[in-house]
Amino acid sequence: MMYRRIRQPLSRLMLFRNSSSIILRQSNHPSKAASTVSRFQSSALPKEDDDHLEEYLREEHHRLKHLRNVGILAHVDAGKTTVTERMLALAGVVRSCGSVDEGSTVTDYLPAEKERGITIQSAAISFEWGWHNNKRGDDMKQNDKVDIQIIDTPGHVDFSVEVNRSVAVLDGAVLVLDAVAGVQAQTETVWRAITKPSLNNHVHFSEPEFLDVSSPTLQKSNHHGHEPLPCLALINKMDKDGCNFGRAVQSIRDKLPGANPIPTQMPLFRGNRSSQPLDLATIGANDALPSCIEAVSTEALGSSNGEFVGVVDLIHMRAILWPEMTRGNADNVENCVPRIVNLLQPETRQPIHRDCAVTQEALKARYEFVEALAEVDASTEEYYLQEQEPSNAELRAALRRATLAQKAVPVMAGAALKGKGVELVLDGIADLLPSPLDRLPPSVNLLQNDGRHADASGQVGLVPKRVRLGHPLHPSLLALAFKVVHMKGRGGGDGRVVFARVYSGKLQDRDQLQVITPPAPGEIAGKPRMERVSGMLELAGGRFNNIDGGEVKSGSVCALVGLKSVMTGDTLMLASETSMNSKPKRGKVGSNAGQDLVYLAGVAAPKPVLTVRLEAETSEQQSRLSEVLKLMSTEDPSLVVEETDSTTLLSGLGELHIEVTVDRLFREHGLRVTVGPPSVSFCETVKTQIETPGGLVNYDRTIGGTRLQAAVHLIITPNHPADYCEINNACTLLSSPVVTVGPDAREFLGLNQDLTEEELLVKSDIARALILGCQGALKRGTLRSAEMTNVVCHVENVDAEGGLASLKALPGALQAASAHSVATCLKENKAYCNVLEPTMSVEISLPNDMVGAVLSDLNNRRGTVGDVIMGEGVHGKSLVRGDVPLVEILGYANRLRSLTGGEASFTSEYKGHSPCS
Ligand code: GDP
Ligand code: MG
Repeated sequence: MMYRRIRQPLSRLMLFRNSSSIILRQSNHPSKAASTVSRFQSSALPKEDDDHLEEYLREEHHRLKHLRNVGILAHVDAGKTTVTERMLALAGVVRSCGSVDEGSTVTDYLPAEKERGITIQSAAISFEWGWHNNKRGDDMKQNDKVDIQIIDTPGHVDFSVEVNRSVAVLDGAVLVLDAVAGVQAQTETVWRAITKPSLNNHVHFSEPEFLDVSSPTLQKSNHHGHEPLPCLALINKMDKDGCNFGRAVQSIRDKLPGANPIPTQMPLFRGNRSSQPLDLATIGANDALPSCIEAVSTEALGSSNGEFVGVVDLIHMRAILWPEMTRGNADNVENCVPRIVNLLQPETRQPIHRDCAVTQEALKARYEFVEALAEVDASTEEYYLQEQEPSNAELRAALRRATLAQKAVPVMAGAALKGKGVELVLDGIADLLPSPLDRLPPSVNLLQNDGRHADASGQVGLVPKRVRLGHPLHPSLLALAFKVVHMKGRGGGDGRVVFARVYSGKLQDRDQLQVITPPAPGEIAGKPRMERVSGMLELAGGRFNNIDGGEVKSGSVCALVGLKSVMTGDTLMLASETSMNSKPKRGKVGSNAGQDLVYLAGVAAPKPVLTVRLEAETSEQQSRLSEVLKLMSTEDPSLVVEETDSTTLLSGLGELHIEVTVDRLFREHGLRVTVGPPSVSFCETVKTQIETPGGLVNYDRTIGGTRLQAAVHLIITPNHPADYCEINNACTLLSSPVVTVGPDAREFLGLNQDLTEEELLVKSDIARALILGCQGALKRGTLRSAEMTNVVCHVENVDAEGGLASLKALPGALQAASAHSVATCLKENKAYCNVLEPTMSVEISLPNDMVGAVLSDLNNRRGTVGDVIMGEGVHGKSLVRGDVPLVEILGYANRLRSLTGGEASFTSEYKGHSPCS
């Protein structure tokens, strides 16, 4: 087959790699099959299955170790789609690479995406890749394979929900950077999403200092639904003028908090002096490199290096050279098969060609590589201190350990468009990124039959005492629906296709599922719903073929049809395995009836920041419009639709988000709509802690002959994400208000001191009245009547003339009183309240001579400029980055076009809300 021929040269490349047993030893998780068996037995399976079980676990273990779920994440235009397309071509999924510029890629499959050349919906796709992890004496097959499932995510952060939901189901990530621009605004955003996955959960806020122990809700609020993602970085577009590997690596170090980039390659260039193209055909594996090849060490901060021709792999000390391609030729992967040239003698490790400058430079770079690795890996440090040379296999294993522990980000170089470097990224995915066994199972919450939920995550330590639900070796099904799309003609009805990650157990066609929707904070979980899978689709971006009698095992991602009510973020369990419907299936390895119903942390959508009014042309179209919008907001939870009798309001995360939605209305559904002027969502918060004046605030009204009387004392405190100052400065992400009830109030109301507020809501009418009263009043701030956000409203105390009995008889009195107290507290403390407005971080790419004009324009728009990177030469392009309030840059695309004669382009993304004066 086509791709085999391409893989061959690379198998030689990997000869010195170690067996994967290293991975086993280093894994944080129960990994040796035997020890897993004993843990497993104690928890899940009947004794008589012992023999079967051992074999079953061995096979499962092997399968899982060869599985990679990875996301390609980047700023828009860095080349995600191009890299993905190249991977598919290398793996033999497509004949030749499609082109973003011609709209022929596999993963960009919405018409709107093809036209705009941006990826709007992430598409999942899976393929096999040769993994050369064999070593003498090992029973591994010569040519092992990994199953790679790639989820291509969008870079435009108007679609950040897509990024968030993919992060929730990935095991590792490849960060693609532009070699000219380095880290860009959205690179920082995806970095935040992969390193602080708790932001993907519903609840994310810091614990206010004054409330040290009083609220069980706050104490459990900082749970991570998922572990941070290990990742590797590809510096793409090394063929572009002005590319700078060293600067790009440095930008990772400087701008991505906690990232420790370790280059594993040194880029090679054909020097400017030589105009002759390289003739690779005549170069043998141990030949000298042509003299025109120059090495550029990672520190070198010059650009004009000449033509990018390859890299030195610093682990194996070989030069890998790709043929020089014109753009069209590079589409065919067979034209891009690299040559591999050894730099060292395998036994003596001495340079093959002593006078080779590239080898000398590469030895220096390797020394730096080992040095950097020694800083984060104890065994490499040992070698380093004793001035011994670790073997290639040891280096590779150490790099894997450091990557999995998120102590290192291996960095590679490439030019995907010219067919250079992507093979090595695939090898890197196999070698360095985690398998599902290397990841902690997601934490789960128990859903009890009365709708009450409690924490069941129990063993969150690094080494679980036994295999728990969600671990890939656990027999019961636990899956997360992370994406919903509607595809005409698929699965009947509205064509709903649900993408799910199976964490544990397996999912088969025709299975009956329990669907559990996670409750929003402060709300009660709904009843689980029964649904039957009526088909499975193969994951081949854009071409979803039916798999008959399909089955998906743990660790994998799948596309399901027939699930009518499933939404993004829902948890899926097998009906026959759960305690609500517990008829155990006999004799089946892996059946585990009686499993409690649980739910996983859902996938949070940021609140929309921009609203427009939509109007269809006819009243008949108007009713179709609401149907279609309903489907679209199920697909994209960051799209919010509000309808009254006369108008339809559509809210989203920015202008492009709304534009793309309106575009899809027309293209996919033939609906023409008029779009009204956009309005921006403000909200309010408090600057500092405020309190009801004089403690208890009395409420006393007689309505319809009934006297409502109660008094409530409360405190409202700012509540920002834990990284508020560190990352966003004055800009903050929004979280809904949290209401807590203190010990004195609980005592007066006769409430249990240990229950969380969510539990109180379910168990006590009177607590419910109190909390709902506060929540209702927090919907309107005092300055602009905008919603209050990022606050904790803490009820200190409650009183009533008629005592508890009168409140029990009339909970409405308490509800009215708590609402009144919140309103009074805000009104009396106006000076300490603040209006927040959405702020966008913008990045403008423009010709050098226009920088001045654009900067002064940004200044007039209340913008703050972060950095300006001037391009080289008269015709160079500069980059301007900064933050601007959203109201000020509505319609900025037009303004920028007229300001620069169409020569500038910009991206903007919602960064957070910041105080507005
Ligand atoms: P995405 O937005 O991250 O998916 O980026 P795309 O894959 O759509 O690529 C954006 C643009 O960069 C397209 O015009 C590509 O042709 C171009 N591009 C991608 N990779 C390379 C590369 O290696 N070198 C150069 N010069 N251009 C590239
Ligand atoms: Mg793309």
